[in-house]
Amino acid sequence: MKKDIIAVYPGSFDPPTNGHIDIIGRAAKIFPKVIVAITHNYNKNHMFTLEERLSMMKESVSAMKNVKVSSFSGLLVDYLNEINSFCIVRGLRALSDFEYEFQMALMNRKLKKNVETIFLMPDQEYTFLSSSMVREIASLGGQFKNFVPKSVYKKIMSKRKLNV
Ligand code: ADP
Repeated sequence: MKKDIIAVYPGSFDPPTNGHIDIIGRAAKIFPKVIVAITHNYNKNHMFTLEERLSMMKESVSAMKNVKVSSFSGLLVDYLNEINSFCIVRGLRALSDFEYEFQMALMNRKLKKNVETIFLMPDQEYTFLSSSMVREIASLGGQFKNFVPKSVYKKIMSKRKLNV
């Protein structure tokens, strides 16, 4: 039994949604320290730069004092080793998430023996929500205010203005 567990919630968060914030809130109630680790993946075509995703996420979780926001590139297990953690938090929305998440959890365990992945379910109202859906609605001019934190809404709206 470890008392000083650092839980790591990794993801691209492109952009952060209320579903992500719900999971972070739940993790922050269970673990003494939660690190939201934003992936720095050069191969992926992101809507937001790493800096933008970091700043949106930092603003969105600023009220949760045991939550820190960071970023990493490369393998998650290497990052876990670096910060001395063995605990991954992931969100599960529906059965459709399960296969991919299960595969990744087992692969991470192969890569790092003592790693554990903890799955948390969001509030029911967020089970349909994804970053890609928010990106799509936003780029087609639809209303997405209720799906994202305030800072994310503001950021997307200011980007939209620059594009018109
Ligand atoms: P990734 O590219 O690693 O899948 P995401 O930012 O899309 O990164 O998601 C990070 C984690 O958050 C994943 O475990 C994903 O299943 C979970 N997640 C995404 N959207 C929601 C949501 N609406 N409710 C709960 N969990 C979610």
